[in-house]
Amino acid sequence: MPELPEVEYTARQLRDHIIGATIGEALVFWQRTIGHPDLPDFLAEIAGRRIEGVRRRGKFLVLDLSGDLILTIHRRMTGNLLLLPPGWEVDTSLQQSDPIAWNIKGPSFMEQGRDDKEKGYDASRTYNSELLYCRVCYNLADGRRLLFTDPRKFGRIELWPCERELEALEGLGPEPLSDEFTVEGLTRALAGRKGAIKQVLLAQEVIAGLGNIYADEALFYASIHPLRRANSLTRSEIELLHKGIVSVLTLGIEHGGTSFSEYRDLWGEAGDNYNHVRVYHQQGQPCVRCGIPIERIIVGQRSTHFCPNCQKLIQV
Ligand SMILES: [Zn+2]
Repeated sequence: MPELPEVEYTARQLRDHIIGATIGEALVFWQRTIGHPDLPDFLAEIAGRRIEGVRRRGKFLVLDLSGDLILTIHRRMTGNLLLLPPGWEVDTSLQQSDPIAWNIKGPSFMEQGRDDKEKGYDASRTYNSELLYCRVCYNLADGRRLLFTDPRKFGRIELWPCERELEALEGLGPEPLSDEFTVEGLTRALAGRKGAIKQVLLAQEVIAGLGNIYADEALFYASIHPLRRANSLTRSEIELLHKGIVSVLTLGIEHGGTSFSEYRDLWGEAGDNYNHVRVYHQQGQPCVRCGIPIERIIVGQRSTHFCPNCQKLIQV
């Protein structure tokens, strides 16, 4: 699942390429991807809007549109954004010929004027398999297409008036890479919570944007066992955890995000951060600090990775 670094990296790429572009129209291939408003209103409202800004809030990507609207995109498990240059055509013939396959794969995209057989051209090699599973396609007025691809179909896109932004993004805690994320604030947030620290870190109202990968990495950074009761952390442990959260998220962005599974950037490229993780999915591998094999346990139904030696379970 894309977390803060992956969404931030995409936001930065989008900012460099689509500010000022106008959305001619949106094509929606999987109706339930649109969470608000109803599909006919969504299609009518979004047509002709200029993209004026690109932001991130937690794991949400937020596009500021002309006419005081915001478009929020939550990628959930497998959602990605992909920007196609002009000259790509969309083929929706599968919808008629094989509706079952259509519901899984969606349309296909091909570059206009290319003779596939003659040149041995394979579109999937250029843009990976991400060209499949397109749920929403924004046709930009300049001929480019911004695709929202999502194999698992859990991603949601919503269109809201600016003044309802708080409602659209409700329940989000402080941004961990901003000044509002402080040791004092984190201490207060953890004080009332008896749950395992790993689970508490995943609660978006505690810290916006943290997910499974970076929570495991931050706990390793701070040498805290994932099952420690959140309200049992000492002042120095919270300080270290705060530092760890900022550190692993910052590095994640610098490495272009973690592509453990589906995450791809705007050009369909994998991020590099998986080559830099210390514990996430490293079970059985020697700990980089002490050499003891990393272990995997389940905490709150999420797989959790830690070093049993560096992150001892002590309850204080
Ligand atoms: Zn260790």
